[in-house]
Amino acid sequence: MASLNSDLFITSARYGNLEHKDPRSWERLDCPFCGGTQMLVIGFNDVVPGSESYVEWLRCANCLRGVVRNGDAVSPATLPLDTPRALEGDTLTAWNEVRACLSVGASTAAVMMCRKLLFHVAVEHGLPDKDSKGRGPTFAEALDHIEESDVFTARMRPWVERIKDVGNEANHDLAAISLAQARDVATFTRQLINLAYELDAMIAGPNTSDAHGDGSGD
Ligand SMILES: [Zn+2]
Repeated sequence: MASLNSDLFITSARYGNLEHKDPRSWERLDCPFCGGTQMLVIGFNDVVPGSESYVEWLRCANCLRGVVRNGDAVSPATLPLDTPRALEGDTLTAWNEVRACLSVGASTAAVMMCRKLLFHVAVEHGLPDKDSKGRGPTFAEALDHIEESDVFTARMRPWVERIKDVGNEANHDLAAISLAQARDVATFTRQLINLAYELDAMIAGPNTSDAHGDGSGD
């Protein structure tokens, strides 16, 4: 435990040192990189914690990457929602961009990335990415196709109607999308990823879950 920070260079004379057992050398904070929850405190200045000029440098005890707290803002911010394990490649990159956009309040950009993801889902479920005139499908066509492919259930239909409007506004209108609308669209998209990718992966993959089906016995 004492060697966790032994790879760090500290550049100049220090105000003081903390022992690992000092409670001020540990903090509970969600890591924006790996989702770990324990942070080693590398250093902090001698102003009141939480005040505007307070600065604290932290290091995740799990992935060893660093975050900085300025006042009460932590950078990089913890990303909203989670990363589905079944995603890879372009789809994974697009989903991570959705989360990054939301974390900095870029709501219109987040919705546009969700639109892009929904097109991915539709095309991967059989929608041609271009028609005979070389035009890509509209957003409404993509959603209709996803519904026809039975990816989502009828109960999600009212949600889909809402997403359609917000998604079209993000692409065609100048009106700003609110963060609440963007979160709504992103949460829907997350559900859809679950239905379109994760369920299949869970069924096809090795049994990594400890939740055994109730009706599997014979
Ligand atoms: Zn971490």
